[in-house]
Amino acid sequence: MISQNQQKVLEVHHWTDTLFSFKTTRDSSFRYVNGQFTMIGLEIEGKPVLRAYSMVSANYEETLEFLSIKVEHGLLTSRLRHLKPGDSVIIGRKATGTLIVDNLLPGKNLYLLSTGTGLAPFMSIIRDPEIYECYEKIILTHTCRFVDELAYRNLITEDLSEDEYLGEFVRNKLIYYPTITREDFKNQGRITELIQTNKFFVDIDLPPFSKEDDRIMICGSPEMLKEMSILLEKNAFIEGHNHTPGHYLVERAFVA
Ligand SMILES: Cc1cc2nc3c(=O)[nH]c(=O)nc-3n(C[C@H](O)[C@H](O)[C@H](O)COP(=O)(O)OP(=O)(O)OC[C@H]3O[C@@H](n4cnc5c(N)ncnc54)[C@H](O)[C@@H]3O)c2cc1C
Repeated sequence: MISQNQQKVLEVHHWTDTLFSFKTTRDSSFRYVNGQFTMIGLEIEGKPVLRAYSMVSANYEETLEFLSIKVEHGLLTSRLRHLKPGDSVIIGRKATGTLIVDNLLPGKNLYLLSTGTGLAPFMSIIRDPEIYECYEKIILTHTCRFVDELAYRNLITEDLSEDEYLGEFVRNKLIYYPTITREDFKNQGRITELIQTNKFFVDIDLPPFSKEDDRIMICGSPEMLKEMSILLEKNAFIEGHNHTPGHYLVERAFVA
């Protein structure tokens, strides 16, 4: 049974000591909506060890890509971090998740707020041409401790705007706002603080969140999700779920 969804590792990229990404082959029957996650893993001592992972790759790509933390004594990632091209990984047959546009009420701007590996689902979303048809602006924030943890920064700031199909959308509609908490950077601090002090909105030249215009997806650490949810609920934003659209959506980037 397990052998049916074994896929081959094609490439591995180590961003830092604690962060890496990898590409794999894709089963032609594996379908997903950009923003969703699946279960992936390895066979360890004869048993499959599976964890939730968001797809970084857009759903029209022939290969799959994942962004992974390296947890020092993590059951899966202490092994997964040693992946090499040619190795096998188990990839689920089904995808799921709340971070899909159908779970949001119609709006003008789409905010994608992430910390750490919470960036992963948004990497597939910002490469989805249909998303750009639905919104006037897409604002992607990524908060990390250190600058070299800003995975895919070059892809977002350079490659995507040159892309044959997405380039024009990206140049006109995508705003990328990385922020760093533990070293000097042009945008400094946690996104929740930058939102509360209004600096974020001044920097991106857009008005503060409004329930009428803005739709928000959040993926990151449990603290960030909690703080953002409190902030949004105070402003009468309603959380959406599968089949119940709302003003904002939340997905945990990991379980604490
Ligand atoms: C919906 C969902 C989507 C996820 N998507 C991704 C993804 O795209 N990439 C990814 O790397 N992980 C993702 N995770 C977390 C992932 O499922 C595993 O927790 C992670 O691979 C570590 O597995 P492990 O067995 O090595 O350690 P675990 O035993 O699973 O974790 C040990 C501890 O490490 C910390 N931790 C786990 N994952 C992270 C993380 N991503 N960032 C910071 N600290 C973490 C937590 O404190 C956790 O309690 C997701 C989790 C959920 C619930």
